[in-house]
Amino acid sequence: VRSAHIIAVGSELLTPHKIDTNSLFLAARLEEVGIALSGKSVVGDEQVDLRIAIATALERSDLVITTGGLGPTSDDLTRETAADVLGLTLTEDAQILDTIRARFRSRGMTMPDANRKQAMVPRGATVLPNPCGTAPGLAIDTRDRLLVLLPGPPRELQPMFDAHVLPRLTRESAGQRVRRRVLKITGRSESMVEQSAFPVYSTLRGADPPIATTILATPGQIELHLSAVGSDIDAVDRALDSGVRALQDALGDAVFSVDGRSLEQVVGDLLRAQRKKIAAAESCTGGLLLGRLTDVPGSSAWVVGGTIAYANDIKISELGVGVDVIATHGAVSEPVAVQMAEGVRQRFRADIGVAITGVAGPGGGSAEKPLGTVVIATAAHRSQVRTFRFVGDRPMVRNQSVAAALDSVRRLLLE
Ligand code: ATP
Ligand code: MG
Repeated sequence: VRSAHIIAVGSELLTPHKIDTNSLFLAARLEEVGIALSGKSVVGDEQVDLRIAIATALERSDLVITTGGLGPTSDDLTRETAADVLGLTLTEDAQILDTIRARFRSRGMTMPDANRKQAMVPRGATVLPNPCGTAPGLAIDTRDRLLVLLPGPPRELQPMFDAHVLPRLTRESAGQRVRRRVLKITGRSESMVEQSAFPVYSTLRGADPPIATTILATPGQIELHLSAVGSDIDAVDRALDSGVRALQDALGDAVFSVDGRSLEQVVGDLLRAQRKKIAAAESCTGGLLLGRLTDVPGSSAWVVGGTIAYANDIKISELGVGVDVIATHGAVSEPVAVQMAEGVRQRFRADIGVAITGVAGPGGGSAEKPLGTVVIATAAHRSQVRTFRFVGDRPMVRNQSVAAALDSVRRLLLE
């Protein structure tokens, strides 16, 4: 199989109330056997839409998997539509009919006539037994294509796929696997990362096996995902490792993790290794920084605590920020951030103090200090301070502030 396409069938999947999770399960399983998805679609229970979706997917991909629409009701049309697209006649399978009848009988019921259509099988199709429900799945080999029809309920689809589809795909994949690496980057915008990484992409595409890259941005963090397919796992891993190194060279110390660790884990590991303890003073992030620092199991070994100094009074009384300093420079200023970091370091007897003060919005901005102005300071043997201008709404500004604060600490520890 070179490429696969998944079609999730069901009008409920087009509403805001229900999401297609079957394709996530299938994508994960396909990845295990080295099959990359070329696409996936969600279509409603309209026969015209379903026909177009199946026909188009079969033109582009050699494996097409549908989920849903194999039930007994009149809106369940996947079986009929697939047969129609492929020009196959449907015949009733006596054995399936018996199984469905027996299933109803075992519950003291007679099979409604509507269920008869679940026993219809396109000519040449392989029947995939469904021990967890009535509708069997179907695998249809057509020219050099494979079309697999699976039921919609996850508890029916998953065991069916694992028992009757995966073994065949594994056999045909000749040991192929998809392997992945993730580079995590902070302190750069998506376009800055793209600009530095772009010259490396052509090398990655030309690697043996070729390496595909995707870029993913969240507030405060960019991820570069590398993936490659092959049957010689060691060769695939070697190619990916040298791809990772090439990108690290291009991006420098903006890359904080290549082994899956989060920024707070990286910072925690550095603090532990250097036997240092940290305390935080937070204004506009209201505890989010301490939240992330203490997300890491075992963080009591390096986090002392901190102060949420939202009001100016608290910055003064709890952190020792000078009244005159706030009056002269304003609460969102470099001198105040430095005093917050030094204050929390001293009062908590930590090796490192880190402080955040800023304008998270939506109100409170000014011409001099627009929304998104955030000042971050670290205090250790000496103090460092930097003013950022983040863009985005309040949660975005706050998340970027926390990421920048964690990164300041990381850089301090790497010096
Ligand atoms: P049934 O015999 O139960 O009608 P079916 O094969 O016709 O099975 P659908 O009617 O399309 O399947 O879906 C049945 C149920 O399965 C849905 O109500 C939904 O809860 C779940 N389901 C269907 N498709 C998906 C999907 N892509 N992701 C997650 N759940 C799904
Ligand atoms: Mg149904």
